[in-house]
Amino acid sequence: MNKNLGNENQKTTESGELRKLGFGMMRLPRRGVNIDLERTGRMVDLFMEAGFTYFDTAFIYPGSENAVRRALVERYPRERYQLATKLYAGVMPTAGAAKREFASSLRKTGAGFFDYYLLHSLRGSNVKKYEKFGLWDFVGEQKEKGLIRNIGFSFHDGPELLDEILTKHPETDFVQLQINYADWDDTRVSARANYETARRHGKPVVIMEPVKGGRLADPPKEVKQLLLEYAPGASCASWALRFAASLEGVLTVLSGMSTEEQVMENIRLLAEPEPLNREEQRIIRRVRAIMGASKEIPCTACGYCLEQCPKEIPIPDIFTAMNSWLGAGQAAEAQTQYEAATKGGSGAGDCIRCGACEEICPQQIEIRKELAAAAEKFAGSRRDEK
Ligand code: SF4
Ligand code: SF4
Repeated sequence: MNKNLGNENQKTTESGELRKLGFGMMRLPRRGVNIDLERTGRMVDLFMEAGFTYFDTAFIYPGSENAVRRALVERYPRERYQLATKLYAGVMPTAGAAKREFASSLRKTGAGFFDYYLLHSLRGSNVKKYEKFGLWDFVGEQKEKGLIRNIGFSFHDGPELLDEILTKHPETDFVQLQINYADWDDTRVSARANYETARRHGKPVVIMEPVKGGRLADPPKEVKQLLLEYAPGASCASWALRFAASLEGVLTVLSGMSTEEQVMENIRLLAEPEPLNREEQRIIRRVRAIMGASKEIPCTACGYCLEQCPKEIPIPDIFTAMNSWLGAGQAAEAQTQYEAATKGGSGAGDCIRCGACEEICPQQIEIRKELAAAAEKFAGSRRDEK
């Protein structure tokens, strides 16, 4: 492991390993349209008091880098935490515009330097753009200047491309991958194959979406029953977090937290994570088979598509409603959720099929097709009665 990785200030377990919980700052609590800084500050305090120090934000998370400055950087000495942020070239028209994200992130966070800096959401459709814009060399230069401590990238594609990138860029210090038990053998996400590829290259892994955007905290009814039967006192989320934290070579497990309760729950679960035992691994395999057969839309509610949609369609909320119907068969609740999501704004039927959302969706969801299905399903609702 790169000697820079890790942080002397981050408390360790008895075995000397880093504690495995990182604070994902993509889903911070909101008051109206703005991030609730008071609550975010309280969540940061809880996290820091428990001895955790890794914070993860990104240029494209709306308001997040400013919130990091206010809730963390201006309130804690710089040496007490580690900060990761990301450069996203996907929507940038020129190399200059993409590179300016770095200066903007430095200014907004006020952090002075980044412990971890990632090229954001690499995959087949954009990897050439990062090369063409010279962004690998650019981040290397920032590292030489001491403005970046560790260079990495987050990744949403298959193991062949990951292998190609890591072979071409041995300067990579770490890789951020989507890993959770439901996506372990999923052919679209390739969690296991990507994890094994990163480890073969000797790269530490930061895990994102361990709870699949919250979906594994509230899985389909059949799965919930199975988990509760074995461990009545354990939350469904705890299974997902323990699965992720059990893997070797994991630097940290990111959890996008939105409430003080989630922070407390995650601290409790990941302060001393207990690896899944043999029986629990067997249950997870059964759960995986059930979820593999599920028709639910694999949306993690990351919100990237919202930034692109010219019709301002609340895509993740519509998919949540669809999943209430597809996963739990709750038709009435799904209808209510759909109406709440689209009240006063655009509905599924307003999609003009431009495809901008699909270009950015890390889960490669056929959003247009799913929205057409939603428009049909919720045809009785006010918005889609057209
Ligand atoms: S395809 Fe539809 S949902 Fe996607 S960005 Fe275009 S209008 Fe929005
Ligand atoms: S549809 Fe894709 S981009 Fe949009 S919130 Fe879901 S996972 Fe994210």
